[in-house]
Amino acid sequence: MTIIRITKAFNFEMAHSLKDHDGPCRNIHGHTYELFVTISGSPRREEGHPANGMLIDFKTLKDIVNKHIVQKYDHAFVVSNRSPWADNAQAMHSKMIVLPFEPTSENLINEFAGILKKVLPPEVSLHSLRLRETTTAYAEWYAEDND
Ligand SMILES: [Zn+2]
Repeated sequence: MTIIRITKAFNFEMAHSLKDHDGPCRNIHGHTYELFVTISGSPRREEGHPANGMLIDFKTLKDIVNKHIVQKYDHAFVVSNRSPWADNAQAMHSKMIVLPFEPTSENLINEFAGILKKVLPPEVSLHSLRLRETTTAYAEWYAEDND
């Protein structure tokens, strides 16, 4: 049985503020995040099936990640529930997400992994994620490190 990995890349714009940071990341600022989602599995061998020869259609993977992560976080302002901003969600009149943890790349990628593990179809498994916050910095999550 051949195991293959496929990766799809996503982009979203997100602002955040890190409550405990002792530098400029305390300030409200934004990033163009790049999220790389890598899944693994065996290509389908089923004559006539639209996904014959695929793990899953890239379009299916795109729709899942867009629905559960990108649409939620794109152009959102994200803070922890301990941030002073968390109490101002109404006053901000904006798309705001309050999380039970600081919105660092490390915490966000762990959150995204938990979401995707629940919603990916059973025939594939989440292999890894890469979340790029700047041109020189990214976090990675690997199933083998965490399962
Ligand atoms: Zn930042």
